[in-house]
Amino acid sequence: MKKVAFYTLGCKVNQYETEAVSEIFEKEGYETVDFEEKADVYVINTCTVTNLSDRKSRQIIRRARKNNEDSIIVVMGCYAQTAPEEVSSIEGVNLVIGTKDRNRIIDYIKKIEENNKSINAVKNIMTAREFEELDINVYKGRTRAYLKIQEGCSQFCTYCIIPYARGPIRSKQPEQVLKEVEKLADSGFKEVVLTGIHLASYGKDIKNTSLLDIVRRIHDIEGIERIRLGSIEPTTVTEEFVEAAATLSKLCPHYHISLQSGCDATLKRMNRKYTAGEYKKVVEMLRSNIPDVAITTDVMVGFPGETEEEFEETYRFLEEIALSQMHIFRFSPRKGTPAATYDHQVDPGTKEKRSNRLMELNRLNMARFHKSFEGRVMPVLFEQEMKERKGYIEGHTANYIKVICKGEDGLKGKIAGVKLERTVEDYMEGMLV
Ligand code: SF4
Repeated sequence: MKKVAFYTLGCKVNQYETEAVSEIFEKEGYETVDFEEKADVYVINTCTVTNLSDRKSRQIIRRARKNNEDSIIVVMGCYAQTAPEEVSSIEGVNLVIGTKDRNRIIDYIKKIEENNKSINAVKNIMTAREFEELDINVYKGRTRAYLKIQEGCSQFCTYCIIPYARGPIRSKQPEQVLKEVEKLADSGFKEVVLTGIHLASYGKDIKNTSLLDIVRRIHDIEGIERIRLGSIEPTTVTEEFVEAAATLSKLCPHYHISLQSGCDATLKRMNRKYTAGEYKKVVEMLRSNIPDVAITTDVMVGFPGETEEEFEETYRFLEEIALSQMHIFRFSPRKGTPAATYDHQVDPGTKEKRSNRLMELNRLNMARFHKSFEGRVMPVLFEQEMKERKGYIEGHTANYIKVICKGEDGLKGKIAGVKLERTVEDYMEGMLV
């Protein structure tokens, strides 16, 4: 039996796609083994979001070669898509495939086996118009399934390389989405997380559908108890959206809404299409209509030209809206994007200081959010037994509070009520009721 090994860098979408590609190999009779084992084929699904991701991708390619010098090495994903020549020239790489045509991977490998010649199969992604169906049929051992329903981004934020790596927006056909969710429900999954490169754009390229529409239709599927949305944009959250969300009981009251900066001048240079004021309105609307809502976000510090005053504006804004969790990133110039060439780059020390201040604010806001639930009984979907604490199990509430409590492994995949007793660092401890 031939063996294949995978390594995935980057985001949830990449993880989804690796899993889908591993099914293609398994159907062909391959056995999937650990990346450090000797395999006949190594597939590295790369990321290119920062210059560092490219470097990491190259390291992993070299590692695969060391694991078996005679193997076929396949490099796919965003780095392969944006720099096919560079990737092809790395010693030992046999096949470069970007973010398209991954379902032809076996044909390419057969050709390489026959002719012993490397293939660069990367095509122009900017002209892609169809969503590439890469389905997962057997979801392994999880209680929460990530489902990729959208591809590409047409926003062109000035710091981001992704539109060049993934091409324009494309949506998975609603019927296909529903079929996959039904499959998930039949396999016992309780929660589905809808993801995409720019999820907010779902449906914009298809007549008569939208993100809200697909959520409504998934809501009707029996067996699925929670629908969670991946990252969305403030512009997605309209009055109509909030009104509908308030009536959809399975839609988790957890919204990850990308902010990046709380200063309008910085947002403008980033080419983000909203103002801090508009973002605040969205937060207020969600909070006054959706009970227990958790709003989480991404913030970037040290964007070129971010002065002390601009950063203070962001800080005060975040202090005021006090979100339940923030992921803080430091701007890192990405070759090929406009922002990499902007004047007034911020020095690393200043970025570090700003990031530390926001991390401290995040700790305070998160603790305050968690404390407001102390004493409450909340349904928790249990995911796994804790390795470091025997007899304890962990899971998440619908509004994404991580909860641990005493419990058996048999609870995995089930939803049960937990009385939340105390806040500990970034999670809460409770007791099954
Ligand atoms: S919205 Fe902006 S940051 Fe997000 S993928 Fe598109 S270009 Fe990149």
